[in-house]
Amino acid sequence: MTLPVVIIGTGLAGYMLAKEIRKLDADVPLIILTANDGSFYSKPLLSTSLTAKRKVTQIPTADVATMSKQLNADIRVATTVKKINHEQKQIETLTDTIAYEKLVVATGASVISPPLLGDAVEEILSVNDLEDYGRFCEIITNKKRVAILGAGLVGCEFANDLTNTGHEVHVVDPAFFPLQRLLPEALGRIFEQALRENGLTWHFGKLVSEINKAENGYNLTLSHQEVLQVDAVMSAIGLRPNIELAKNSGVKTNYGILVDSYLQTSITDVYAMGDCAEVSGLVLFFVAPLLHCAAALAKTLTGNRTEVIYPVMPVVLKTPSCPIVIASPPRNVLGEWFVEGEGRDLRALYYDQHNNICGFALSGRKVIEKNELIKKVTPLGLVKE
Ligand SMILES: Cc1cc2nc3c(=O)[nH]c(=O)nc-3n(C[C@H](O)[C@H](O)[C@H](O)COP(=O)(O)OP(=O)(O)OC[C@H]3O[C@@H](n4cnc5c(N)ncnc54)[C@H](O)[C@@H]3O)c2cc1C
Repeated sequence: MTLPVVIIGTGLAGYMLAKEIRKLDADVPLIILTANDGSFYSKPLLSTSLTAKRKVTQIPTADVATMSKQLNADIRVATTVKKINHEQKQIETLTDTIAYEKLVVATGASVISPPLLGDAVEEILSVNDLEDYGRFCEIITNKKRVAILGAGLVGCEFANDLTNTGHEVHVVDPAFFPLQRLLPEALGRIFEQALRENGLTWHFGKLVSEINKAENGYNLTLSHQEVLQVDAVMSAIGLRPNIELAKNSGVKTNYGILVDSYLQTSITDVYAMGDCAEVSGLVLFFVAPLLHCAAALAKTLTGNRTEVIYPVMPVVLKTPSCPIVIASPPRNVLGEWFVEGEGRDLRALYYDQHNNICGFALSGRKVIEKNELIKKVTPLGLVKE
């Protein structure tokens, strides 16, 4: 009997890998396990669906039965994997032991909870999956004033979506302008101004220390004892890869599950990809990297060992009122941003010490230069061991 390829996770990583495997091999037995209901949806839609008037139920494009048929896979929902016994090449769920030929961990990431005091900490919202989004929509309906903690990509996209739909939005961040870790200041300021003109209020250089229930909603205590009164609070301060299953099973982890450029973990026949994986030193919480990983790993799992090579992968911010495209330079590259352009139409290029362009950011009408610039940037690549 041929043992199956087992995938843990039905997020975009798990499902895109299964799709790639099926392009190459229609018959290899495939078991996919997921803690959720196994419906297929595009997670990036979650931060634009209010504006698009897309109901939560309209976001999934296929239920588990459809996915199972499409992928010719045995998909087991509401099934949390508890342990990987790699010596026996088995995994354990609460009720089953399943043998595998190859195992792929695609367990995603979890939101980081803000370290706050107060009696309403448990009521802070966050959105990292469809279920979270359903809860968020239920609570946000009929609420006017919303505070968002964190002015990163996800926080800014939700702020834009909520502002578009008539909410009074306050974004609080200790940084001095939005997307400070990704953008040079000139572009961050343009973005800040555009969203302010849409009605959003920024609270930069401030930390939230407490959240308490108030007569109507919540009191958020900011730096210098400033108090912000709102009806709902959302945290978007970041994600942490889900590594516990791997770590507790003896697979080497760091910030993410450590894998080489073939996506192999420290254990033979155990692979990892998506938000949970640290691929040759890089943890990237984006769709493009996982698509490259899925294509390469499907080849490896079907007999053609293939390395993943990341090209330049710009991220397009889903904020039409101020278009922004970012191709971040690698974190370890020392260099400087050079910004040119006028008004809202700016091009920023990040040069390293040898005058190579290692990243770029574009705003306004300059975003059309994306494809041209991709050709000029030294790819992020993968650090060779
Ligand atoms: C609001 C929002 C907007 C975004 N917008 C963009 C964008 O515009 N562009 C972009 O590139 N990226 C965007 N991203 C990021 C992108 O969506 C993610 O990087 C990607 O979806 C991660 O997929 P994943 O499969 O790795 O993880 P997940 O989607 O988190 O899936 C993890 C899966 O693992 C399962 N699981 C976990 N632990 C276990 C266990 N022990 N046993 C069984 N199953 C388990 C879960 O049930 C789930 O099925 C956005 C993210 C968010 C939250």
